[in-house]
Amino acid sequence: MKSPNQIYLSSLIGILLLTNFVSSEETVDNSFQKQSLLAVLYMQTSAEFAANNIQTYTNATNKIDEALSDKSWTAALEQKDNFSLKKPAIILDVDETVLNNTPHQARSILNGCSYPCGWIDWGLESSAEAIDGVKDFLLYAKSKDIKIFYVTNRVAELEDATRVNLKALGLPFDDDEDVLLMKGEKGWSSDKVSRRALVASNYRVIMLVGDQITDFISTEEATLEPEARKDLANKYKDMWGSKWFMIPNPMYGKWEGSIYGNQYPETQEEMIQKRLEALKP
Ligand SMILES: [Mg+2]
Repeated sequence: MKSPNQIYLSSLIGILLLTNFVSSEETVDNSFQKQSLLAVLYMQTSAEFAANNIQTYTNATNKIDEALSDKSWTAALEQKDNFSLKKPAIILDVDETVLNNTPHQARSILNGCSYPCGWIDWGLESSAEAIDGVKDFLLYAKSKDIKIFYVTNRVAELEDATRVNLKALGLPFDDDEDVLLMKGEKGWSSDKVSRRALVASNYRVIMLVGDQITDFISTEEATLEPEARKDLANKYKDMWGSKWFMIPNPMYGKWEGSIYGNQYPETQEEMIQKRLEALKP
C-alpha cells in the first residue's frame, strides 16, 4: 500500500517524464520540411499518382514494338550516326522513376532534417519500393531482349545497395556489363549527357524514362528561369509519350532550383520567401 506521499511522488515523476517527452517532440522544428507535406502524401497515398504512373508505363510498353521495328528510331539526343543495327536499349533514371524514396521524405518531415540528412542511410537500407507500373514495363522490355540501363545521380557509395534494391524488386538487371551508372563513378558528373552518350555508342537507345528534364537533355540546356524552362517541354513535344516518358515528382528537383534563380538561398527562410514570390495569384 502506497502512502499519499508516495502516490504524489510517482504521479509527479510520471508528469515530468511525460512533459519531457512532449517537449522533446516539440523541439523538432520542421516548419521548413512541412512545406513538402502534401507533395509527399500525394505520392504515398493517392490512387491518382499510382494511376498516372501505371498509365505512363503502359503507354511506354505499347510503344516498344514500334520502336523495335523502326530501325531509324532513337530517343537519345546523344545518338550518333549508324545506329540502326545496334542492339536496342532503354535508359531509366532511378530515384522517383524506378525506386520510390518517399519514406526518406516522410522521415525528413518528421525529423525536421532534409536531404542530404538521412539520405545515405536510407539508400543503404535497399528497401525502396518500385514506382507503380515500372516492373511490368521492364519485364516486357526484357522479354523483347532490350538492354536496360539505370543512369542515376545517386553517389557511387550507394551502388551496391542500389543494385541489391533493384534485384530484390525483381527488376531486370544484367551483370554482364555495367548497367548501373552512378554519379562520380568513372569521373561522371551529375550531367547525364556523357553517360547517355556512352550507352548510345554501343546501343540504339529507344526510350528514356525519368522524373527530371535532365534525364532527357543536358543540365546546361535545362538551367533556366521557370518560364523559359517550361518552354523546354514544348520544344520537345514530339518526344513525350513516344520516346520520352516523364514521371511527376512534386517533392524535389531542378524545377525547384529554378524558382531560386538556379542558386539555392543560404537559409530556409529565404527559400520559403522565394517560393511565395514565385506564386502566380
Ligand atoms: Mg530521379
